[in-house]
Amino acid sequence: MVESDFSAELKEVQAQLDALTAKKQALENALEEARLAKLSLSESIPSKKITIVGGRGKLGQLFVRQFAQLGHELQILEQDDWPNAKAMLAGQDLVIISVPINLTLSVIEQVADYIEPDTILADLTSIKQKPVEKMLACHTGPVLGLHPMFGPDVDNIQDQVVAYCHARAEEECQWVLDNLILLEAKLEAVSAQSHDNAMAFIQVMRHFSTFMYGYHLKQENPELSELIALSSPIYRLELAMVGRLFAQDSQLYADIIYANSENFDLLKRFVSRFQTGIELLEKGDKTLFKQEFEEVHQWFGDYADHFLNESKRLLKAAHQSSAQS
Ligand code: NAD
Repeated sequence: MVESDFSAELKEVQAQLDALTAKKQALENALEEARLAKLSLSESIPSKKITIVGGRGKLGQLFVRQFAQLGHELQILEQDDWPNAKAMLAGQDLVIISVPINLTLSVIEQVADYIEPDTILADLTSIKQKPVEKMLACHTGPVLGLHPMFGPDVDNIQDQVVAYCHARAEEECQWVLDNLILLEAKLEAVSAQSHDNAMAFIQVMRHFSTFMYGYHLKQENPELSELIALSSPIYRLELAMVGRLFAQDSQLYADIIYANSENFDLLKRFVSRFQTGIELLEKGDKTLFKQEFEEVHQWFGDYADHFLNESKRLLKAAHQSSAQS
């Protein structure tokens, strides 16, 4: 074959790829339409009146869209709507608070002044103890804590985890959870305290160490484009995970990290272990490092191999998608 033959074949393969991409998109659209049709056919869902306070925000919008797809009567209460709050909040079956964390407690107080005793009061806040305590203190009716364990950049909540904390009147709140199940979310029951303890590791420690990683890079000031150019997919992904934090809302991360001052003790222990690690390195004995490494491996147990395989799959997908873009 000569060069022109390769070039012609390459064009043909590209055309096939384009056709497949278009077909994939069409199938995805059809799948979403079928899903929506299935939802609207669910006759078992009685229509409810739902208000999302902060419903024009990033996460609020998603929940407005999702509950509306089930045929409910949705209403958004935003910052400028407080003069009409009394009329808006009368007769609601469910009021969900989805405002910035630092405003959540005061907005719960405001909402509680207007809602009726049988209205379910719920929230989507990333921390659970304080909002749930506040909702219980301000409202005598049903209370449900929710924490969607995902960001607002998903199209729908299908296959996404939503943690929930029963707080008061479980039976009255059940339809809300049933609706989330209809939307194919994965529900995880948890107490508010266990939730916040787990989030200290999952979010607070993670976000703080990512923040420190970015802060350290800024202080050391290496040439970022060079680091990117020289990074294999896994290191590039790690850099991306750091960089993406700083493209987001600093208030949200500040609120999550500052939410509970007990978390600072965990962070201090984390920092002191860096010092222990440095002392280990300065002893210059790699066998000590390897011993610690093995002990951590033992602690992870079967999860170590599981995570290795899972991350290999993710990296493969990341590699393919970066090759396509
Ligand atoms: P956001 O800033 O995008 O939206 C907040 C909305 O609240 C805005 O529309 C704002 O106008 C409105 N608002 C502010 N003050 C108000 C007031 N006094 N009365 C009525 N509305 C008011 O924030 P977000 O990212 O959507 O987060 C909302 C909640 O969701 C937070 O509690 C957060 O912890 C939780 N959450 C967010 C994410 C995420 O990744 N964004 C993930 C899980 C949970």
